[in-house]
Amino acid sequence: MKSKNKLCFVSIDIEHDYADKEKFFRGVENLDKILDIFRKHGIPATLFITGDVLEKYKETVIKWSKDFEIACHSYSHRFWNTLDHKERQGELDKFKILYSSIFKAEPIGFRSPSHLIDEDALHILEEERFSYDSSVVPNYPFFKKYRGYKGRAPAVPYYPHRTDIRRKGEMNILEIPVAGQLFGLPLAGIWIARIPFLVFRSLFSFYNPPFITVNMHSWDILDNSFRKSSVDQFFSSLDRILSLLETKDYTFVNGRQIYEIFSKDKR
Ligand SMILES: [Zn+2]
Repeated sequence: MKSKNKLCFVSIDIEHDYADKEKFFRGVENLDKILDIFRKHGIPATLFITGDVLEKYKETVIKWSKDFEIACHSYSHRFWNTLDHKERQGELDKFKILYSSIFKAEPIGFRSPSHLIDEDALHILEEERFSYDSSVVPNYPFFKKYRGYKGRAPAVPYYPHRTDIRRKGEMNILEIPVAGQLFGLPLAGIWIARIPFLVFRSLFSFYNPPFITVNMHSWDILDNSFRKSSVDQFFSSLDRILSLLETKDYTFVNGRQIYEIFSKDKR
């Protein structure tokens, strides 16, 4: 892999179906519809998986792990702004025990449910020997109802400051921000489904950031009232966006590969 070319970090948050009150997992059960598109483009993607999913769909996740990186999306997907220090540690410990029993190794990457991240959370991740976090959203889309991380931050991978994770510093955990295209428009599932492909194409015709992310949720592939968009458009737009990025010379990478590129810099 040519390091430091334009990089595109591709990931999916895999959890129970968000729009449902009950814990259904129809998105998880149909996830290969997205993964097959990634396989077609040769994309190594990171799958941020909850412990719930890993426990319930162990054999399926083992199969996915042959083509993709499996990382941590907490155990239960409870929101971290409602958890204290000990409860947050508990979420990670429970996940790590399960993960290690299956993969005989520790997970190195984490994304917080709903991107709820703060200094305390990053300190816990550092203590728990995670190598990278990918929860910070440097340009959150202001037009969206959104509860996660807000505020500016570097739009490329960086080592955060101990007392202010929005700044660069000396922490021993790499932050891989969820960086959007122009105007903070993220290449995220819900927008891929709603915004016509031609809009993305015209944005990329005059600006190609050095680092971007394409991220989505397991439930992005479900047709339901929460989405208010067509799942067919989602699949066709996703495929076309990935092809577009190939023509713009982006290298598709997962979190582990980004960590390998950026950890060399630190030494
Ligand atoms: Zn999530």
